Amino acid sequence: MNDKQFSPARPPATLGVMGGGQLGRMFAHAAQAMGFKVAVLDPARDSPAGQAADRLIVAGYSDPAGLADLASACAAITTEFENVPADSLAFLGAHTFVAPAAQCVSVAQDRIAEKRFFVDCSPSSGVMPAPHKTIASSEDIDAIPDDLLPGILKTVRMGYDGKGQVRVKTRSDVRAAFADMNGVTCLLEKMLPLAYEVSVLTARGADGESIVYPIAENVHRDGILFTTTVPGPNVSNACAGMAQDAARAIISQLGYVGVLCIEFFVLTDGTLVVNEMAPRPHNSGHYTIDACVTSQFAQQVRAMARLPLGDVRQHSPAVMLNILGDVWFDAGSDTAREPAWEQVLALPGACLHLYGKEEARPGRKMGHLTLVAPTLAEAQDKLRSACSILGIELDA
Ligand code: ATP
Ligand code: MG
Repeated sequence: MNDKQFSPARPPATLGVMGGGQLGRMFAHAAQAMGFKVAVLDPARDSPAGQAADRLIVAGYSDPAGLADLASACAAITTEFENVPADSLAFLGAHTFVAPAAQCVSVAQDRIAEKRFFVDCSPSSGVMPAPHKTIASSEDIDAIPDDLLPGILKTVRMGYDGKGQVRVKTRSDVRAAFADMNGVTCLLEKMLPLAYEVSVLTARGADGESIVYPIAENVHRDGILFTTTVPGPNVSNACAGMAQDAARAIISQLGYVGVLCIEFFVLTDGTLVVNEMAPRPHNSGHYTIDACVTSQFAQQVRAMARLPLGDVRQHSPAVMLNILGDVWFDAGSDTAREPAWEQVLALPGACLHLYGKEEARPGRKMGHLTLVAPTLAEAQDKLRSACSILGIELDA
């Protein structure tokens, strides 16, 4: 990397994003707030980030002309989705500064490479991933050790929001699930007794400086993140310290530049297990927009622009609630309704974020709501009120 690539990008330079989803939209808002211009590359003419961008390049993620256009327009480029072709990032990286780099993203895109990295990293991170085995053939299924079952069979690539995962009890379950997935290479993970789940958002600059946000406690529902609570009601100081130290070790061993989110499991006996990482800002970090000095998106801007990283201090306890398309329908029916935003916004400390998606569909992430308050108990109280206004069952 030459000196030119290390010099900071200054506003009003253009920062580029691969992908037009909500993460790109919130990135654009943060970049523009600092005076940068934003270019988005996405195949769709209308997208959450495309609506916010100064410039939209409508092109496929591997389209050479589109990529060349983005590279020539931008002082730095990032990605807002994990499954961006690593080759495209490598191509962009030959022309301009790309953070995170293609090789970091490719580790996170492949569950086998990711697990191998976590195992290699464990002497410095102090955490191990779940016991696992690659399943690429029928012989692999025969060779599954008894103590890996019951488990979860996960596709090696393209999994998100619990998609591409099947819970399996026996070898014949594995055989059936593997066949259902058309024999694509999978990873079998031992099913662990989870007490709760946490994530740690971390960021590293091109100068090797890194920061770690407060640990976040996550609740999933139907494989999709439901709430994130910070500080986490179940998280001890010891657990938070361990997870944050692990995150620091992982991001520096990866040689990563940008925002990285690492998901962990806390088992019923208190053991911390590293699950997976997302090479970008993350849904569980949305609370930072309203509750921290520097949001995860502003942090991504700083890291990719080679500017100093921002203060991660949390100034308010917060609960983030994902708003799925379901709230546009009466419970259990397809009768459409309009969510009562005016009632939600009447709650003090309610910060509403909607992503500009036209069509509400059940399970589709349409926005999120962060409830901030002077104490966690008050923020949780507001979460209950918001859920009751929106018709979301909190204790399902
Ligand atoms: P996302 O993109 O939403 O993070 P994903 O599809 O990439 O999800 P994982 O994070 O690997 O998949 O798994 C989804 C959820 O399934 C986890 O948050 C956890 O609740 C559960 N889970 C995954 N692996 C295990 C395991 N080994 N033992 C117990 N539960 C697990
Ligand atoms: Mg996950």
